[in-house]
Amino acid sequence: MNRLTTNVGGETSRGVTGMAEPDLSKLRNFGIVAHIDAGKTTLTERILYCTGRRHRIGNVDDGDTVTDWQPEERERGITITAAAVTSLWRRCQLNLIDTPGHVDFTAEVERSLRVLDGAVVVFCGVAGVQAQSESVWRIADRYQVPRFAFINKMDRAGADFRKAVRDMEKRLSIPPVPLQIPAGEASAFSGVIDLIKMRLLTFDWEQEPPVSKESDIPDALKPAAEEARSEMVAKAAECSEDLLELFVNDQPVPEDALRAALRKGTIQRQICPVLCGSALTNRGVEPVVDGIVDLLPSPLDIPPAKGIHPRQQDKAVERPCKASAPVSGLIFKTHTDQHGTLAFFRIYSGKLKPGTRLYNPGRKAAERVNQLWRIYADKREEIEEAGPGEIVGLMGLRASITGDTLCDNAHQILYERIAFSETIMSVSVEPRSSADQAALEEALRQMVMDDPTLETKLDEETGQTVLSGMGELHLEIVKDRLLREHKLNVRVGQPRVRYRETITRLATAQATFDREIGDRRHKATVQVQVEPIDTLDLKVASDLDRKTIPLELIEAMKESIRVAGGSGPLESYPLLRLKATVTAVEDFDPLLATETALTSAANAAFEKAVEAAGPIMLEPIMRLELRVLSEHVGDVLFDLGGRRAEVKETEVVGEHQRVVAICPLSELFGYATQFRSLTRGRGELTLEPSDYRPKR
Ligand code: GDP
Ligand code: MG
Repeated sequence: MNRLTTNVGGETSRGVTGMAEPDLSKLRNFGIVAHIDAGKTTLTERILYCTGRRHRIGNVDDGDTVTDWQPEERERGITITAAAVTSLWRRCQLNLIDTPGHVDFTAEVERSLRVLDGAVVVFCGVAGVQAQSESVWRIADRYQVPRFAFINKMDRAGADFRKAVRDMEKRLSIPPVPLQIPAGEASAFSGVIDLIKMRLLTFDWEQEPPVSKESDIPDALKPAAEEARSEMVAKAAECSEDLLELFVNDQPVPEDALRAALRKGTIQRQICPVLCGSALTNRGVEPVVDGIVDLLPSPLDIPPAKGIHPRQQDKAVERPCKASAPVSGLIFKTHTDQHGTLAFFRIYSGKLKPGTRLYNPGRKAAERVNQLWRIYADKREEIEEAGPGEIVGLMGLRASITGDTLCDNAHQILYERIAFSETIMSVSVEPRSSADQAALEEALRQMVMDDPTLETKLDEETGQTVLSGMGELHLEIVKDRLLREHKLNVRVGQPRVRYRETITRLATAQATFDREIGDRRHKATVQVQVEPIDTLDLKVASDLDRKTIPLELIEAMKESIRVAGGSGPLESYPLLRLKATVTAVEDFDPLLATETALTSAANAAFEKAVEAAGPIMLEPIMRLELRVLSEHVGDVLFDLGGRRAEVKETEVVGEHQRVVAICPLSELFGYATQFRSLTRGRGELTLEPSDYRPKR
């Protein structure tokens, strides 16, 4: 197989200077993101078909696609797990991470975008920019991911390319620049006009393999094509001085210079190129694969990976994307089953082989890679070596989970963890037969391990296991998986809101720990201050002088406060929007002030301070985006009025109305069902967590 990471210098050249670097310019780590049902899975299938990894086209509607590989996904026709798939195109290695569009699974989108270099955003040619495409777009903004758009479903009745582009212009952060226009729309859709070559591309998709044909642009479409091309050239010229020079002097624009400018503009996120087609009928897919190669960045085009030094957290560290650099990378996903855990790892620098020893600086744990895999959806291919920029599967890790950094022990670096949303809903779970309790706990342990937005906790009062997640669908899928994968039939309680707690004012408290344990006295007095902050987390800091108190002890106190913050004083929900600072350790005595004494005193001082700071409950507030037929708007708004919802925006979009509202989660249980009945199944609803507010 044509592998890019083959060590050209041979086995003996490991670590030797002058070793040939693999050609990373031929690597693309990309993802496909979209609103649910825009056609992401279908496009993925067609891309794989096009690049030759699959001989028969899979269909979402028949339930036999490559990337939707968990049984629930096939049944529900949605993509839950991001599967990694590798293929080759024009001598480039394409590493594709499929990401789900459902908001209950944003964790998957977050972690994929965190490790990707570029993305294809799929929009529906009929619906345009939908709510979830906007939320994934914002995540891509946060991780600075270059992207281009594919306007899909051009074959469907109501498809409108210009409207979709206008929608993008209005609602998204990067200006869209069409590189194609469709030849006809809806039933008249016959192909795409390539504005760079100024040729018509048609696709005979019923042939196997499908063939594409180039021909002259029909006369009727020439004026529109000329106009769109001028706009494209003007926008491209803004991205490249060379091109600008030609453009302002009215010189002919060579294809190469134009492509180079478009690539540069995309990578700098100055423009978002737009392609179009119909994934279902395999028209316009090949240009998308070309676009991945031509427009999206290779690992060399993005800045070196940035992290911090694990023991000096204010020191920034960088790793270049080079095989000769010390090895480092990030685990962005794991898949645990009875055979162990497969960790999906993005290598930022250096090389890996089976047997490589690694260090997990976040958990202070040594790890060893037993096996190295290239992942092809649910199939894996064992490989002997992998290099920077690659996405691989690691077997044999013990302590590491999603979001963790792994690096060379002698050259440590800690990458920023992936930010996951807070869980907002919980249910109790109980096995139908009490003999299954241990099996249930083990199954949940495996699932929690792989899903950072899933938590379990034992309710001390009832003795029940409480499972928390991102919404009703998320928790329902866990229940299905318990039954299907673990043969566990469980009883699930009513869903409940997972509240949070916070404080309303600043307070300081002091606590002393003084006890003989064994033949040793442990004594310390610690002062902690707590104050409200705006961000949705618990921040822990220290004002202590590191010269007097060893850094490990300061870190241990901070950690004990973080743990204490996991359950607040009112109803044991986690504390948020709070900053705690260890302000003083009285008369620090290195003999008496042991770690036990310091952490216990810090913990107690923190709890006292929180009690004194006016603790209150917070409830999760959801953002709703609805699209309903005008005739149903009245009923929908009336119903929302009864749920403490606040309407923020309404807009007429053709025969529909778009409504944006916010509403407490506690009022929204079962809302999806009610919404379906109010709109006779013809509306569209997106719910996502938006904020927390004091609970009334
Ligand atoms: P995903 O949720 O974004 O992964 O979307 P899917 O790929 O599962 O597609 C959702 C539905 O749209 C399926 O019924 C597809 O057959 C259909 N679909 C996808 N692409 C096209 C297209 O280009 N044209 C038409 N008419 N339907 C499409
Ligand atoms: Mg899908």
